Amino acid sequence: MSSDEIQSKDFIRTIIADDLATGKHEQIVTRFPPEPNGYLHIGHAKSICLNFGIANENANARCHLRFDDTNPTKEEQEYVESIKDNVRWLGFDWDEHLYFASDYFGQLYEYAEHLITAGKAYVCDLSAEDTRAYRGTLTEPGKNSPYRDRPVAENLDLFRRMRAGEFPDGTRVLRAKIDMASGNMNMRDPVLYRILHASHHRTGDTWCIYPMYDYTHPISDALEGITHSLCTLEFADHRPLYDWTLDNLPVPCHPRQIEFARLNLSYTVVSKRKLLQLVNEGYVSGWDDPRMPTLSGIRRRGYTPVALRSFCDKIGVAKKDSMVDVALLEHCVREDLNETAVRVMGVLAPLKVVITNYPEDRTESLTAQNHPQKPEMGERHVPFGREVYIEREDFMEEPAKKFFRLAPGREVRLRYAYFIKCEKVIKDETTGEIIELHCTYDPQTLGGSAPDGRKVKGTIHWVSAAHGVSAEVRLYDRLFTEENPDAGEADFKTFVNPESLVVLTDCLVEQSLVNAKPGSHYQFERQGYFCVDSKDSKDGTPVFNRTVTLRDTWEKEKAKG
Ligand code: ATP
Ligand code: MG
Repeated sequence: MSSDEIQSKDFIRTIIADDLATGKHEQIVTRFPPEPNGYLHIGHAKSICLNFGIANENANARCHLRFDDTNPTKEEQEYVESIKDNVRWLGFDWDEHLYFASDYFGQLYEYAEHLITAGKAYVCDLSAEDTRAYRGTLTEPGKNSPYRDRPVAENLDLFRRMRAGEFPDGTRVLRAKIDMASGNMNMRDPVLYRILHASHHRTGDTWCIYPMYDYTHPISDALEGITHSLCTLEFADHRPLYDWTLDNLPVPCHPRQIEFARLNLSYTVVSKRKLLQLVNEGYVSGWDDPRMPTLSGIRRRGYTPVALRSFCDKIGVAKKDSMVDVALLEHCVREDLNETAVRVMGVLAPLKVVITNYPEDRTESLTAQNHPQKPEMGERHVPFGREVYIEREDFMEEPAKKFFRLAPGREVRLRYAYFIKCEKVIKDETTGEIIELHCTYDPQTLGGSAPDGRKVKGTIHWVSAAHGVSAEVRLYDRLFTEENPDAGEADFKTFVNPESLVVLTDCLVEQSLVNAKPGSHYQFERQGYFCVDSKDSKDGTPVFNRTVTLRDTWEKEKAKG
């Protein structure tokens, strides 16, 4: 992405440009700080594109990938690897700037002793229940803990013994001594350290006290020389604590925290906790189910990094929460795949057509373009024979008014092949169901036009019966039936769309797709964009995920305003 592609600067980029112009900073350093307790979702993509984007747009700038791994019980190495993989897939690179908050445990501990010595932190023995009661409410001030005025020496001794493992979980905490009457609950002597006898995925059993997020985050930022610490709006109330922590410690610098609006996307949920429920309760097949708004799911569905970056660019960065229409995301992926996807033919619900005047033993190899608007994408050969399959939908025994496709006595064009005319409809004698069509073809019409100038109104796709490859096709729709499944009283899961996945097992695709590479993208002509499933597809029996249909509703909705 080049900087001139960014049409207008958002408020964060404006701040950064000013800080460079005034000489406040010579080098910009941002960070993306995921907690490795789940898979990344599309909301994280916004944060990644913002932080890494700013680093890419400014000369001499960089973005760190930092794992915020202060919570030993919920974090796993598996998540670390998937997060790295997702960031790279999106097209970003942290170079050598990979960090873990757990790398700072030693320094964080030293700083905690510093606060204690300065009389700005104390060990508190209140139970969790009492701590809550003492904290007060939004309308009432809190009460000082009876342990608040412990002498420094006693605090130091107790804190060291907490670290040495002398006390069980939950018996004591280290708290900042700020203001129990503050209007901001985060400033009412927040907890800095808790006792937790748990193994950490990186530090093992070295520690049995762990620092809290609000204490760890500003210090990690300062130690890494971050200039702009960008986070979502829910952290605005934590900013005074962020600043208090840095103001009271001998840290190398004081980064500026700036909050921006989270991405909320219609017809889905973006919260790791909720996504976890969908996985655990079997609503989806896993974190990478193609209906999930996780980056692994979106990728498996067939969304591309180009489409996601373009989406993040278009939604911009603002200070007010809003809901982004999923139609915009769909529009972005169509825009990209329209340029890059090879066009192929696949029949989702096949109906057999016998071309009665075509020689039985003959096969032709017809030329098809990979992208009709882009000759540079080349051509391929598609076999044609006496029996082909067409889409059941492309035939109507009694054609409706604007139906221009195949019907008894009517002629249509088979894409890249001949005109065919329907002569006879063969039905099952008992059920009355249409089993096959008998058609004739006009050998003069190869290439799509008739020498006598007669026209046909419809062009339909097809697959040769003798050469077609059977395939499974998974049609995905929006995961929820409600635009905002989270809005009301009801459990969001009651709005899971029962038709969000339709599996078609009798599909036929053209021969060229027999060994289609997992992850590759195609446009099935007239149907939509499809991606070869990366998990279940095998050579000879491909599985296709429908990424998105061809119909773009975004432009229309935008016009409506
Ligand atoms: P969740 O609420 O889904 O659990 P989180 O905020 O706890 O997400 P983190 O791993 O802590 O997840 O997030 C890493 C970074 O991504 C943070 O800076 C966070 O602000 C940002 N982020 C998370 N969700 C969104 C979102 N929906 N839109 C934009 N940024 C987000
Ligand atoms: Mg979080």
